[in-house]
Amino acid sequence: MDASDGKNEKKLKIWKGNSLSIAGRTTLINSSLSNAFIYHMSLYLLPKTVVDTLDKQRRTYFWKGGGTKKKYHLVRWENICKSKSKGGLGVKDISKMNISLLCKWWWKLETENGLWQDLVQKKYVKDSPLSVVSHKIDDSPIWTDLLKVKQVYLGGRVLQVKNGKNTRFWEDIWLKDKPLCILHPVLFDWCLNKNISVYNVLCANGRLPFDWCLPPSFFQEWLGILDATFSFNFEDANDKVSWKWGRNKMFTTKSTYDHLTAGQSRGHFNHIWKAKIPYKIKIFTWLLEKDAVLTKDNLIKRNWLGNPSCIFCGQLETSKHLFFQCPVARCIWGMVGSCLGATNVPNSCSQFKLWIEHWLPNGKPIHHFGFAAVCWAIWKGRNKAIFDGKIIRHPAEILTHACAFMTYWAGLTKEDFQVGILEGVKSLLAYAHRALAQQAATTPRMLPAPPTPATEDEDEA
Ligand SMILES: [Zn+2]
Repeated sequence: MDASDGKNEKKLKIWKGNSLSIAGRTTLINSSLSNAFIYHMSLYLLPKTVVDTLDKQRRTYFWKGGGTKKKYHLVRWENICKSKSKGGLGVKDISKMNISLLCKWWWKLETENGLWQDLVQKKYVKDSPLSVVSHKIDDSPIWTDLLKVKQVYLGGRVLQVKNGKNTRFWEDIWLKDKPLCILHPVLFDWCLNKNISVYNVLCANGRLPFDWCLPPSFFQEWLGILDATFSFNFEDANDKVSWKWGRNKMFTTKSTYDHLTAGQSRGHFNHIWKAKIPYKIKIFTWLLEKDAVLTKDNLIKRNWLGNPSCIFCGQLETSKHLFFQCPVARCIWGMVGSCLGATNVPNSCSQFKLWIEHWLPNGKPIHHFGFAAVCWAIWKGRNKAIFDGKIIRHPAEILTHACAFMTYWAGLTKEDFQVGILEGVKSLLAYAHRALAQQAATTPRMLPAPPTPATEDEDEA
């Protein structure tokens, strides 16, 4: 290894701790949204420039902490801002939080009675369906902001027609499974009162103004709609509002926020958040499953110029390689597999899930527990070899470290669960010790010597 390699390895050392200290920052960033600020967000729509500035500061803090050293942004900010059930870390996206908080006012307006509701109805809504209320020049700032999020609210709100006052005749879904404007586009086009409510159609006895005197075929079509309308089972009550994004059809700010941040990603990491392991290890495995751990291939994508080869075997270090396909990883998984009676080893994160379900079908609660311990031990072993020059004599050494983690983490679980874990650890250790004993009897060292040890302090949490 030449001098520039050594320098780059040093840089690598500085960066490797990234995933660890993220844990506490997530909580800290969310708690930094003070009550006063949330109160403000529930009344006004924050200007985009304010949101951008705040987000930039939060993003920088999330990845760098309070430090000044360069840190990579390993996962897109919008993915971090997704809730955990949607595959993110649950850091709040200010803009979407703001919109969700404002939507609550629309729900209150439609479902609750009170002075505010009466005032707004009288001043702004005036018996029109909400969907047709629009901005006017003398609207108050708060009402103006509410109107800006109205479309988001209408996207999640479902109407069940009772008296039809809040339902648009043409554009809401009420008589059939699609709006009448889609089913009868020509009539809709000719109708001069496109925003009329169902209630007002009834009041007008179905006499709606049209652009033309309807030709016979369209007149028949129109009569058909009126027939269906007048046979509809109306009730003397307000149209019932429900919420399609929430459980129990009730509005919650969280359901709106979750919907807004859901995006395209369908990855679920519930198995990680439910696992009984330390939070920083959860973050590590979350990054690992998103292929965002700072293995050398990921560093190279970020213009790192060091030696990209695996410290154990010399092949390109990717996360798939390091944790599964490297001979060292395969040997470790082989020993774990022998314990479970498996005849093969997993070769990726996704395959691990199928593999462990097949070979340990009744051990679901410890699937991720074991995965985390083995991968964390590999990562620590790899870092010790790179940065501290610690020689690993046999992969079984890494497995014994994984066993130590499992024993330590078992303290986080319930007693009956602990017993199972400790039994598993015992038989894993037996395999590891046997392998170490055999190895001691044959070759003195099977893994390549590490590079020159770096001297800088580790950046880990
Ligand atoms: Zn390797």
